[in-house]
Amino acid sequence: MDYNKMKWFFKCPVCGEWEETQWIKRNCLYECPNIKKIYYPPSPLEQIDAYVDTKHYPKEIEEAVIKLKGRICSAPNCRNHYTLLIHKVPLSKGGTTSVENLIPVCYEHAITFNEDEYNLSYIFQYFKNA
Ligand SMILES: [Zn+2]
Ligand SMILES: [Zn+2]
Repeated sequence: MDYNKMKWFFKCPVCGEWEETQWIKRNCLYECPNIKKIYYPPSPLEQIDAYVDTKHYPKEIEEAVIKLKGRICSAPNCRNHYTLLIHKVPLSKGGTTSVENLIPVCYEHAITFNEDEYNLSYIFQYFKNA
């Protein structure tokens, strides 16, 4: 995963338009191209529908999801500890890789909810490392 190329899309607090910066520059001062005002882009916790343009989620987004939604699997009645995050609305159906759209699930439910091949390959990769 090339984090250097990952983009961070957020709603500009100055002009209200969606704007983008590089993920690695999210903590750097940013100038709104419309109003020319300088500010810091919102963090994943500050704007939960801000998103990156990849299926992979950076650690900081995972931490924000866990902070807001907890470490227990999101499946009804499941009390397992989460293993990974999946997209509630799949990317193929217009979902985004955002704090809002990612949910913690356990290994078993990650397979049940499997939205596409991406998650399966991710799980297999996890298995190999376990
Ligand atoms: Zn703006
Ligand atoms: Zn579960």
